[in-house]
This record gives sequence, C-alpha cells and structure tokens, in this order.
Amino acid sequence: MKELPAGNLLPRITVTPPGPRSRALATVLRDYESPNITQISDSSPIFWHEARGANVLDVDGNVYIDMSAGFGVAAAGHRNAKVTQAIQRQLDRLAHGLGDVHPPDIKVQLLKRLAQITPAGLSQTILASSGSEAVEAALKTARLASGKAGVLCFTGAYHGLTYGALAVTDGHTFRAPFADQLGIPIARAPFPDPYRPPPQLRGHTDPAGAALEIVAQLLESGRDQIGALIVEPIQGRGGNVVPPAGFLRGLRDECDRRGIVLIFDEVYTGFGRTGRWFASEHEEVVPDLLCLGKALSGALPLSACVGRPETMAAWPTSSGAAIHTSTFLGHPPACAAALAEIDEIESCDLAARAARLGEALLPRLLELQQRHPSIGHVRGRGLLWGLELVSDRKDRQPDRQLAARLTASALRRGLILLADGRDDNVLSLTPPLTISDAQIEFSLVALEDCLAEV
Ligand code: PMP
Repeated sequence: MKELPAGNLLPRITVTPPGPRSRALATVLRDYESPNITQISDSSPIFWHEARGANVLDVDGNVYIDMSAGFGVAAAGHRNAKVTQAIQRQLDRLAHGLGDVHPPDIKVQLLKRLAQITPAGLSQTILASSGSEAVEAALKTARLASGKAGVLCFTGAYHGLTYGALAVTDGHTFRAPFADQLGIPIARAPFPDPYRPPPQLRGHTDPAGAALEIVAQLLESGRDQIGALIVEPIQGRGGNVVPPAGFLRGLRDECDRRGIVLIFDEVYTGFGRTGRWFASEHEEVVPDLLCLGKALSGALPLSACVGRPETMAAWPTSSGAAIHTSTFLGHPPACAAALAEIDEIESCDLAARAARLGEALLPRLLELQQRHPSIGHVRGRGLLWGLELVSDRKDRQPDRQLAARLTASALRRGLILLADGRDDNVLSLTPPLTISDAQIEFSLVALEDCLAEV
C-alpha cells in the first residue's frame, strides 16, 4: 500500500530513527548480507519503504527529505510519475531483449537521444548498467584508440569500484585490499582542490596551473605508456570539489597536444545537477568519451559511455560475438526510464532550476559557515554542495566524527544526509532538482539546529 501523499512534504518523524521495524530488519540483514555492505549502528540504517519527489517514507512511518537524491539518481524526483509510467508501459510490452544481438527497439531511441543531449561531437554510445561499467567501457575504448595501456588519473577521484574503475579511483581503503589485482598502469596527478590542496600544490598561487604542469610532466615521462586521462569535471564523492576555471580547458589542450584520449566522468555531475546538462559545459570543454549513470535513468540501473565516433571507431565492427557487452545491455525498462527522465529534465528545465536554487543557496550556506566555525569550506555548484567539517577553522583538521554525529542528528530531524570526501568529513547537499523552496528552507533550519546540537 502506498502511503506517501503527492506534494512536497516536510519531514514527519513519529518514531526516533531507526525505529523498531528498521532495527528488526537490520538484525536480519546482519545474518544475510556480506558484512562489508551496510553499516549497522545505533543510529543507522533506516529502511526505505516508499519515496516520492524529495521525500522518503521509512518502514516505521517516518517521512524524510532526501538530501542525497538517492546517491544523485533521482534528479527529477523519486518515483517521478512520468518515469514510473514509462517503465510500467515498457514492462507491459517487453521487459528484456537481446541487447547486442536482436536489440529492443527502444534502445535505438535512447542512443539517438543521448547523441542529441550530449555536447556536439559525441554521438556513439556503449550502454551498461552501473557507473563503474561506463568507466570500464571508456577505459577499454581509450586502450583501443590510443594503443596504450596507461591512464592518468587524479587524487581524490572516485570512478567506481569494479577493477578497472578502482584502478583509477583514489583512496587507500578502497584500493589497499585489492592493490595486487589492479592491473592498469596509472599515474596520479594532484587534483587542484582549492579548499585542501594536495601536498604538491600547497603554497601555489595558481593551483590549476601548477596541477597542469604536473600533468604535462607525467604525460611526458609516461609518453610511451599513457594513452588516456580520466577526470571528474567536479569531484563528487571526493567531497564536491570544484576545480579552478581553466583547468578542464588546460587538460583538453594537453590531451590534444599529445593525442591522449580525454575521458570525463560525469556519472555524478550529469543531467542538470550542476546547473547545466553536464558540468563540463560550464567551461565548454568537450571530452572524447563521456561517462554517464545515476540520473541518466533516474530510477533503474543504467549507464553509458558516449564518445566521438572517431574514438569509438577503434572498436572492431562486431562480427557476431561482441568483445564488450553484457546480458542486460540496453535493458528496455531502463531505456524507457531514461527517455522519460531526460524529457522531464528538459521540459521542466531542471538544470536551470538547479542553477537558480544553487545561487540562492550559496549565501545561506555562507551565513551558516559564519556562525559555525566547524564549517571549513562551502563549495559546489547548482544543486551539488559540500560543507567541509573541520575541528576548528584555523588548523582545519577534517572532523569525520562531527560529520557522523551531524548525519545522525539530521536523520532524527527528518533529513537524509551523506558525508563524502577523502576523510568522510564533507556533508553533501545533493537533493532532487525538484526539491521545493519550503523543503530547502526546512533543511537549512534543521541543519542549523543540528550544528547547534552536536
Ligand atoms: N563515477 C562517479 C563520478 C561516481 O560518483 C560514481 C558513483 N558514486 C561512479 C563513477 C560509480 O558508479 P556506480 O556506483 O553506479 O558503479
């Protein structure tokens, strides 16, 4: 039975979360899920039962505002009516096809649509199911196109956790247990994080210029091995880090000079999140390969690597057994969801809405920062914001515990918040782009109360 009424609701917490039903489910989960997956503690998790717009209803009847948009997926809102109808219609007709042999008709529609909405020059796509797989497809494409195995990637990068993606993802905890199985040779350059520059960039007045110089040096010394460069135009999970203007352009120029395949990973930042369809459009820089996921479908597992036909031409023409494909490639309900999600983002102009809400949010977040020395930096764009939490503003030690206390306190007030960043100390505000003004207002007041409480 569905219980969430239509409309943008403010939170309603009737049982302190996690309530008894969530706790009971967590006890079962502990026995049946691999222990690495879900952290179970006194304050987490709540189990989702229903979602709509920016709201989530848990199994104990509490209503929340989801400031994570379900890991950035629900750009047009959870259970968007048009998306849900499109999925249902598709399910009534064709739930599964032979993706790379006798494909579902709807796959063709989606591929054409992707060519329309992505920057000019990008028109050929490899579909997949997760963001990590889109990255895998890009890395393989770049390998074929460049003839070289090596990849240049960045500090703080998150590209997913499958082996190819993990090879270019940064972060000791993700990589260390599997380091001896990460086969792709990589070089890692410092990402010009203006808020917490990596050691090589500290003290530089022009961190982007300094980072570009290091990129050039690494590409030069690895010229026989490195054929690709992968970067997030704005780092998402790395802590919502916006690089200085000119950085992406500099990378494009460097790649052009050396014949390197430039990959932008916009799995997080795509589909209006930052105020443009794609974050790289703020700088009008077009990559050779663009990785998409999350809000591409808004609901079902679907991802894409969209490329220039010249780059995709590196793949052999299929002679029967495609050398890169998967069982669910072009999954019909996921394609239907994506077509509807893209229509919704376009017809409701959600990218412009994200830009507008983001501009209104910035001064409010800066006010919050003024009042609370535990907020080190406020950064972001559109509806992708990060509040860096530090032990105090002078020594600026990342405060992971504070972030954990804040997310727990926020949950009790009806806000679903996640902490990102290398030190898990960046509170991420990435709500659905359809979030209402009243829901934003509520969230800001609740956040202030949380900061006062913890
Ligand atoms: N790239 C980026 C930029 C991401 O943010 C993520 C997921 N957070 C991924 C890739 C991996 O996507 P998935 O979890 O769907 O594999």
